[in-house]
Amino acid sequence: MILDGKSLRDQIFADLKPQIQDLKLSLAVIQIGSLEASNVFIKQKAKMCEQLNITFKHYQLDENVSEREVINLIKKLNQDETTGILLQMPIPKHYNLSLLQNIIAKEKDIDGLSIANLGHLFSINNALKPGTAKGIVEMLKSYDIPLAGRHAVIVGRSSLVGKPLAHLLLNEDATVTICHSKTINLADITKQADILILAAGKKHLITAEMVKSSATLIDVGINKEDGKLYGDVDFNAVKDQVKAISPVPGGVGPMTIAMLAQNLYEAYLLQNKTS
Ligand code: NAD
Repeated sequence: MILDGKSLRDQIFADLKPQIQDLKLSLAVIQIGSLEASNVFIKQKAKMCEQLNITFKHYQLDENVSEREVINLIKKLNQDETTGILLQMPIPKHYNLSLLQNIIAKEKDIDGLSIANLGHLFSINNALKPGTAKGIVEMLKSYDIPLAGRHAVIVGRSSLVGKPLAHLLLNEDATVTICHSKTINLADITKQADILILAAGKKHLITAEMVKSSATLIDVGINKEDGKLYGDVDFNAVKDQVKAISPVPGGVGPMTIAMLAQNLYEAYLLQNKTS
């Protein structure tokens, strides 16, 4: 079975559109520099906004802009009518990423990466959750892949994907193992996975011998080579051998965008809470 992120995204958009049509939502994307990969992701966000009648504001800053100017921009957006603020990653290394992420007001932090929102992930349910992790759980649930008691193995321990995902899967009663670049005998662990999630960013890291036939594979990796996109799984070698697999492109990517739209709506609700 191929896990089709595009159809799920379209369905999520169709459900969301009538709920948000009168709310005048807006998304501000702050980009520092002009990396080609970032331009592609920003275009996808602009398209999402167009499809859902959300106002899209793109602040493209020169990569030599002072940190103070970025801080001032975030503070202005925290105060004005903007619904959601997103710092497009990666940002150049000479900026303090953590400082900038944590200046974004927690109810406008639609990437869910501020310490306040990551902290809430461990305690209360109404935090804005990182979109990719949330989208993966949504995808598994939409396809009725059982999670409770199942062994979920995540390859990759980033704060963006692996760590928040581990927590969301624990909330679904999965048994979770996280692997990373220092893991010894990766294949021994991946072979045990009922659900195997790949977020290493290494083309074809996972081959047919590394998965069991009843496994569900979620491929987060985006690896560009000769103008083509590849996942972390050798898709063609593995697809007929496993129970289910998400393709690259067309799997987790569209789910991330769909969750961003959902987070914008949730951000609106948090900002307009009456009690
Ligand atoms: P990252 O570089 O921050 O983290 C990569 C992780 O993989 C690290 O924890 C590292 O220890 C681990 N790793 C690297 N090589 C490994 C190996 N050989 N064996 C085991 N573990 C290994 O990356 P990230 O930001 O978490 O992103 C991971 C991948 O997912 C990238 O390709 C990125 O482009 C993609 N991504 C896709 C989406 C999407 O929406 N589809 C969203 C976020 C990230």
